[in-house]
Amino acid sequence: ERRAALAGSTGPGATADGHKVPLLANVGGPADVPAAVAAGAEGVGLFRTEFLFLDDSERAPSEEKQIAAYRQVLEAFPEGRVVVRVLDAGADKPLAFLTPADEPNPALGVRGLRTLLDHPDVLRTQLTALAKAAEGLPVHLEVMAPMVADRADARAFADACRAAGLRAKFGAMVEIPSAALRARSILREVEFLSLGTNDLAQYTFAADRQVGAVSRLQDPWQPALLDLVALSAEAARAEGKSCGVCGEAASDPLLACVLTGLGVTSLSMGAASLPYVRATLAKFTLAQCERAAAAARAADSAEEARSAAQGVLSGE
Ligand code: PEP
Ligand code: MG
Repeated sequence: ERRAALAGSTGPGATADGHKVPLLANVGGPADVPAAVAAGAEGVGLFRTEFLFLDDSERAPSEEKQIAAYRQVLEAFPEGRVVVRVLDAGADKPLAFLTPADEPNPALGVRGLRTLLDHPDVLRTQLTALAKAAEGLPVHLEVMAPMVADRADARAFADACRAAGLRAKFGAMVEIPSAALRARSILREVEFLSLGTNDLAQYTFAADRQVGAVSRLQDPWQPALLDLVALSAEAARAEGKSCGVCGEAASDPLLACVLTGLGVTSLSMGAASLPYVRATLAKFTLAQCERAAAAARAADSAEEARSAAQGVLSGE
């Protein structure tokens, strides 16, 4: 049955009535690229660059080493989009030479963009390496910052990108509820949003993503999380800009339809999930996805949201 569901699952992501939803891959480096290409990814929606930084506990990788790694990923999608996330260190991804050792709550401390703004040399090297890696390639390079909290963060990141001479779109990840609530003001500084639903759930529900005992609250079907997705997508639409999802939520085929119905413009996920999401999306029209999204948002729990969306999409 799975194979039948996947038959014809090739080509660009779209709903049954042809509303395009580019399906992109999450990668950690060049090693993940072949699987992404084989799964028919239309590009990369999240290149988690921190994996490049794990080899050496004392310093950042050299500009040359970074250029080589970035170039390999960019070359794999000649006409596509590649969204590179600058280093997201701290909290669940500590780096000895950058992350403060004495924070009582690392997830609420200096992490993500905050780390880079404290170490402008590391950010500058990374942005310069990206600019050089993209030189002469037709790829659409987009660069985004993790853990953007407000407009000042977005501006600081955009300023750093411009100072490095980067010819790319600059974006902000929405991983903190304040960023979703004030998405329009963040969009005054950057050209796109990308929802990191893993962290967004963690910060919305005050539920550590690494603590199994609170995993119920990490469920991306939680209506409060769907509300924040909707706010972000509506802000982007009002500004004529894009708003993708690159957290785990995008890899759940049914939820991918709901996210589309909420107005999300692209979905990025691990390569293995791509064919399932593509096949499911192709079964429903945008209007059906919108009805499923409204039903999910009207629910009071993750379980109810899931079954409400399922009910709408199976024609109950
Ligand atoms: C997220 O938080 O949803 C995300 C995509 O980033 P990461 O999982 O790498 O923190
Ligand atoms: Mg994150």
